Amino acid sequence: MNSLTRVNISSEEIDLSSTAKTTWRDAGLRYYAYSWYLRKRFGERIQKISLDAKFTCPNVDGTVAKGGCTFCDNRSFSPSRREPIRDITDQLANGITRLKRRYKVDRFIAYFQPATNTYAPVDRLRPLYEQAIDHEKVVGLSIGTRPDCVAEDVMDLLQEFAGRTFMSVEYGMQTIHNKSLDWMNRGHHHDATIDAIERSRGRGFEICLHVILGLPGETHEDMMATAAEVARLNIDSVKIHNLYCVKNTKLADQVQSGEVTLMERQEYIKTLVDFLERIPSDVLVERTIGDAPPQFFVGPSWCLDKSAVLRAIDDELVRRDTWQGKLL
Ligand code: SF4
Repeated sequence: MNSLTRVNISSEEIDLSSTAKTTWRDAGLRYYAYSWYLRKRFGERIQKISLDAKFTCPNVDGTVAKGGCTFCDNRSFSPSRREPIRDITDQLANGITRLKRRYKVDRFIAYFQPATNTYAPVDRLRPLYEQAIDHEKVVGLSIGTRPDCVAEDVMDLLQEFAGRTFMSVEYGMQTIHNKSLDWMNRGHHHDATIDAIERSRGRGFEICLHVILGLPGETHEDMMATAAEVARLNIDSVKIHNLYCVKNTKLADQVQSGEVTLMERQEYIKTLVDFLERIPSDVLVERTIGDAPPQFFVGPSWCLDKSAVLRAIDDELVRRDTWQGKLL
């Protein structure tokens, strides 16, 4: 592989002609970038619209834990939670206007993002998902949730919607190490993720896992064990980012007191590339970096220049002449 097409999901840098190629490797990419996949699948750029259905989380309301994950402030993750309360149709209209102004884009995936978007009875979930796919510009659904929050009737509902539209279900796995899940007050262990994945198989939706690199106490070997488990689990896509810190969280106190140190940029880039080398070439890579709006952000500051980090990841892949799945 001697050429590299930039794969920055938030830019216009993807060469449209590259989507005529059969595989991402033929197209000169070094990992299976979600932006490239969406262009290939839909024939045009597709953008996700963050939607807030005003769910809470069993990790916040005391059902499994109180206080939430130590790094969590949903306003920092999700543009929709920073907006005034609107119904789903209004949020879509508003998001479409905003994203059309910002990008040359005409079709969208409705992304139920903040908190736990399966944390309600099926009778409440159905009309929310329905409103989203009813919009003529929406080509698919993406549902962010916890692996311990998908009862069988909810799985059946997700399967039903997957039969009607393109659909992805994102499970917050974060790591395979229970000591780290306990550290972040996650309220579930890795067996919950395995269970959710097994029950999701064959239902017609993409299974996506969230992974965090740079958790305190995790060695490089620990993080590579998570990569090996992602490879073993035979899922469809992964979202990876470094542990970053936003204000008004327990993590912010830990960072300020020096109890937790966040990964340096070069260490993250190296670790991420090591991770990519160990996951199969048919796993979509939806994200390789995390960030939050500056007004919420504590650190590490290098995350705020997302474009530069994405370029540095590409450069590291080229420098090492490596690619996703190379070590498998
Ligand atoms: S499970 Fe998600 S929404 Fe709930 S506290 Fe953790 S990060 Fe926040």
